[in-house]
Amino acid sequence: MSVLEIHQFPCLSDNYGVLIHDAEQNLTASIDTPEVGPIERALSEKGWTLTHILNTHHHGDHTDGNVELKRKTGCTIVGPRPEASKIPGIDIEVGDGEVYEFGGHAAQVIETPGHTLGHIAYYFAQDEVVFVGDTLFALGCGRVFEGTYEQMWDSLQKLMALPPETTVYCGHEYTQANANFALTIEPDNADLVARASDIADKRSRGEPTVPTTLELELRTNPFLRAASPGVQKELRMDQAMLGEVFAEVRRRKDNA
Ligand code: ZN
Ligand code: FE
Repeated sequence: MSVLEIHQFPCLSDNYGVLIHDAEQNLTASIDTPEVGPIERALSEKGWTLTHILNTHHHGDHTDGNVELKRKTGCTIVGPRPEASKIPGIDIEVGDGEVYEFGGHAAQVIETPGHTLGHIAYYFAQDEVVFVGDTLFALGCGRVFEGTYEQMWDSLQKLMALPPETTVYCGHEYTQANANFALTIEPDNADLVARASDIADKRSRGEPTVPTTLELELRTNPFLRAASPGVQKELRMDQAMLGEVFAEVRRRKDNA
């Protein structure tokens, strides 16, 4: 199996575009299509030709480039079955537990409803990488627009169960704001305090904080830390169900 090459670049104001490349079969997929111009520039920089689009969910900042890129390249568009009617140009619908073979690389489809009802993540187990769209962010999680907090918690738990060494690519650079919020939820978490200062350094140099790893998120992301005594103490919820603790963290972020 060849290495899955991955190239990330900024799009719009705070989105990330990501290209993945299978050199053996000369295939290239764009994970979502936030903005055509930067995607085309990234393709030409790498000398790659677009053959696929893998959409995580229907929001415009993840699908707006679909139709133009398909018209120009004839690429195949893969997206979540439950919201296929909202994914422009979709060719192949995938659902929970299915595997999409991207060249020599198998992508397991994980349904992660909450941000949208049909949101999916693409998990490349052999490559130890997951593309989570707007479900999980570095130190954050997506706003719950269509689903319930309970659904979002279930979705996050599916991601938390992946191997900790998994590299996580998400849709946005929200990390600095997320870090400020995270410190209000778990101020005594030394790993979080250290990470927050690392993030401030990176952002002051204009560097990305994405991708991240699941291991780092499990140690520092307040949305994954409902079981942490420090979080429960701060929220005065040490008797609550973990899903309720998560919901309270999400509510506080919504109102922050
Ligand atoms: Zn979104
Ligand atoms: Fe988004």
